[in-house]
Amino acid sequence: MTVSDRLKPFGETIFAEISRLALQHEAINLGQGFPNWAGPDFVKDAAAAAMRDGCDQYARTSGVPVLNEAIADHHARTGSRRPDPDREVTVTSGCTEAIAATLIGLVNPGDEVVLFQPFYDSYRAAVAMAGAAPRFVTLRFPDFAVDPAELRAAFSDRTRAILLNTPHNPTGKVFSAAELELVADCCRRHDAYAFSDEVYEHLVFDGAHRRIADLDGMAQRTVTMSSLGKTFSLTGWKIGWTVAPPDLTAGVRAAHQFLTFATATPLQYGAAAALRAPDTYYAEFLADFRRKRDLLVDGLSRIGFTLRPPQGTYFVIADHTPFGFESDVAFCRHLVEDIGVAAIPPSVFYDDRAEGRPLVRFAFCKDDATLREALRRLSRLVAR
Ligand code: GLN
Repeated sequence: MTVSDRLKPFGETIFAEISRLALQHEAINLGQGFPNWAGPDFVKDAAAAAMRDGCDQYARTSGVPVLNEAIADHHARTGSRRPDPDREVTVTSGCTEAIAATLIGLVNPGDEVVLFQPFYDSYRAAVAMAGAAPRFVTLRFPDFAVDPAELRAAFSDRTRAILLNTPHNPTGKVFSAAELELVADCCRRHDAYAFSDEVYEHLVFDGAHRRIADLDGMAQRTVTMSSLGKTFSLTGWKIGWTVAPPDLTAGVRAAHQFLTFATATPLQYGAAAALRAPDTYYAEFLADFRRKRDLLVDGLSRIGFTLRPPQGTYFVIADHTPFGFESDVAFCRHLVEDIGVAAIPPSVFYDDRAEGRPLVRFAFCKDDATLREALRRLSRLVAR
């Protein structure tokens, strides 16, 4: 079976489809998660300076040394161990490449990989590209808590890894300390890896970000992945990275060198400057997003959606059933065509699509005026 045969069941990525529909219907795009403002000037200035200074050729495959250093320091900000920048940090073309390189480099065809559903769409595809078999654990609306029995049952002797995402897209869930400990316990018992996507690490609204790599015995079996895009509103730059012990890093790099070889050189210098931002940058970023979350959550509740405020990320999942539509796809079609707002139908994030049918995902990484206008339009929805 070719990779394209294996990917056929998943169709086109929902983000491309929804963004196209949003443009076509001139709808406000609360579907694809990208900010509608520009990234910070101090980051662009550093990238532009690198371009002017002639940083035009291939970067070191594992990343330009100043960026690997900046990633190591940034990783340690949360209290985590500082990784060795040369042996434990690898720069990738966005976290999406990090996920693919990690799965392709460290999982054998036929191995099992545990995924929480709903999952970010590329996870399922990357597992398929690696020739591995997914095992699903369902997080259920409204709190999306982990069912310990279901999690334990998903692990077996065939489990190579679990792919984790905290804070979690699309639910906005932040895994609790107890849930992370449970995942770690399963990994230790079954000698499995944890592949942890932490791109929303700076969007935790209450308390501090927790890394599974920091739990007992987990540093040696975890690949932590993150990126620049969310934290610096530079989703189009596609700068990501992995942090992992040298033996796992060797696996990631084996795949990375033949997937992309290296990542855009001047943008890596910009990224190094970004990650040196003072604490005030991250604090203001979080405060802005907390306000946006409250704006959207309050508005959606007033209109009649049922939801819990997300604990992290810039997404919120709501129950659309008060409006009487038979499915998330039908509801999102009505939103984009008749209401003028694009949103994501979450059934695409489930293996068992029925689980996502009552739900809708909105992104709130938009300026306040746009969020208010989206709410004004959504208020035309009529509860039935
Ligand atoms: N991560 C973003 C989201 O979940 C978009 C990613 C993409 O467009 N591929 O909306």
